[in-house]
Amino acid sequence: MTENQFAEQRVRDNLLRIEEDLQAACAACGRHREEITLMAVTKTVDAARINAALDAGITCIGENRVQEYLGKRDALHLDGVQKHLIGHLQTNKVRQIVGQVDMIQSVDSERLAQAISETSLKLTGGATDILVEVNIGGEESKSGVDPDQLEDLLWKIDELKGIRVCGLMTIPPIFTSDAEKRAIFSQMRKLFIDIRGKNVDNVSMDILSMGMSGDYVQAVLEGSTLVRIGSALFGERI
Ligand SMILES: *Cc1c(COP(=O)(O)O)cnc(C)c1O
Repeated sequence: MTENQFAEQRVRDNLLRIEEDLQAACAACGRHREEITLMAVTKTVDAARINAALDAGITCIGENRVQEYLGKRDALHLDGVQKHLIGHLQTNKVRQIVGQVDMIQSVDSERLAQAISETSLKLTGGATDILVEVNIGGEESKSGVDPDQLEDLLWKIDELKGIRVCGLMTIPPIFTSDAEKRAIFSQMRKLFIDIRGKNVDNVSMDILSMGMSGDYVQAVLEGSTLVRIGSALFGERI
């Protein structure tokens, strides 16, 4: 085997291991595997390895940077694959990404929601699906809306015709224990259910995006419907 073939084989092996973990986590908490989308996070990963994952059955990818995504997507086997932007989005990049992905997961301000809405109506004539990013772990993290301000934000953006809020996303602080992460995920799940009960116009709570390479099992146990996995699938990023 060439080095590339080795790398692609490793991706397939990793995918099998992750799939086993997801099945086991579902069995442990009585959930169905089909309730959970496995997203491959493709930042810094070359097209050959991404395609190995896509060819092995991955149906959803996430990219952090607009430029990186637009630069490599033509080389990817993306037929029927959901593409999400998961990284922080600056308002001046909105025009480049609206209409090019199926969902923007990282909306955390009224200003950004407005920019996406306006641009979406102008460029596509329709609405763009978004998630609101919540900063549930608090402290140093720069992105995400404060849980206390989430409902307020949703009421402010509920009349924007060019977005559809489909759920919530979170990135927990890096240096927390498994138990702390579970507590954070559990809090997210409570927020998700709570908002669902409020019936805000234009807001449906279908997707709870939480869980990454180090904590996707805990996230599934606490109700995640979409796990975003990079390094456990593709290896450590260099
Ligand atoms: C990089 C990234 C991930 C994946 O991280 P891993 O720990 O490599 O799985 C998930 N979500 C977001 C928003 C990311 O930026």
